Amino acid sequence: MVEPLPHVREIPPYVPGRPPAARPGLTSYKLSSNENPYPPLASVLATAEQAASAMNRYPDMGCAALYDALATRLDVETDQLAAATGSVALIYHLLAAFCGPGDEVVHAWRSFEAYPIAVTAAGATGVKVPVTSDGRHDLAAMAAAITDRTRVVLLCTPNNPTGPALTHAEVAAFLGAVPDRVLVVVDEAYLEFVRMDDPVDGPALVRAHPNVVLLRTFSKAYGLAGLRVGYAVGSAEVAGALRAVALPFGVSSVAQAAAVASLAAEDELMARVDSLVAERVRLVAGIRSAGWSVPDPQGNFVWFDLGAGAADFAAAAGEVGLAVRPFAGEGVRVSVAEPESTDRLVDLLRTLTPPVGTTVGSSRST
Ligand SMILES: *Cc1c(COP(=O)(O)O)cnc(C)c1O
Repeated sequence: MVEPLPHVREIPPYVPGRPPAARPGLTSYKLSSNENPYPPLASVLATAEQAASAMNRYPDMGCAALYDALATRLDVETDQLAAATGSVALIYHLLAAFCGPGDEVVHAWRSFEAYPIAVTAAGATGVKVPVTSDGRHDLAAMAAAITDRTRVVLLCTPNNPTGPALTHAEVAAFLGAVPDRVLVVVDEAYLEFVRMDDPVDGPALVRAHPNVVLLRTFSKAYGLAGLRVGYAVGSAEVAGALRAVALPFGVSSVAQAAAVASLAAEDELMARVDSLVAERVRLVAGIRSAGWSVPDPQGNFVWFDLGAGAADFAAAAGEVGLAVRPFAGEGVRVSVAEPESTDRLVDLLRTLTPPVGTTVGSSRST
């Protein structure tokens, strides 16, 4: 009988955000996957449609137009870039390139649920360092968790699902405590939504540290989640290793074309991001006025720390047409989206009792 390798059985399942259940007479909102609620820009859609008309051809395996556009935009060399089918794929690629069985990967927890999946799939050992009570990475504990077997550290900023982002000073100090032989991955999936003092300057980290690699995506701020395209920025050595292990022709021609068109339409797309950030500010104000609090949200989502109450909260949200993302026994993540979804969530909070330990105003800022 054929059998997969033993670690394959240990891979935890990925739980996708559920679509809302249809409720007659009520518009439902999908707030479970941190998607961009705006439809594609006409210019991006037209370019993607044109690319689709050549779907009998393989895509450009070298992603030349995308790398050129990104290199100009980020002021890096094209060989410092590696694109893949979403930044989730890049996590797999970097573990394939830098980790083997017995190697350790340090990351915060709760953090992005793809991390333990990818680490286990690589046959490596995950070392989960609990986030602080306000949902922040505990960088001192993460540095202390590094051993001779550590090959990779994953930082998620802003952290999905808890929300807070790291400052540049925090990451720079952390890098000073990490040996050069350890690859430090900075997952910046929600970078465009950050509004705080001293935000992480990823390209500056890459210039200063050959062991840093940034992961970015077109899925969130740019609204291309369905097309699957993300990229890494690092040293030529690191980026080259990621390109080497990638599946050939992974990023489709439609995705490449849409990504390039999105970079060309960046002003329009960033205006939408500004609107979502304004909606986030309004949501946080509503949450506070309803007597609840959340950790400082710097992405397009908020986190309710609910412990055992997560499932009931998600069910109550479902009753009013809001599909949210519960993490059993821990909490609920809710995406920032249409204003009506904000109003409905705040109305719901007013009818529920905040969990013990929730203190109004404990969220630090918006
Ligand atoms: C959404 C997300 C990604 C990006 O996923 P894609 O594969 O690019 O769609 C990466 N990291 C985190 C933390 C995310 O939340």
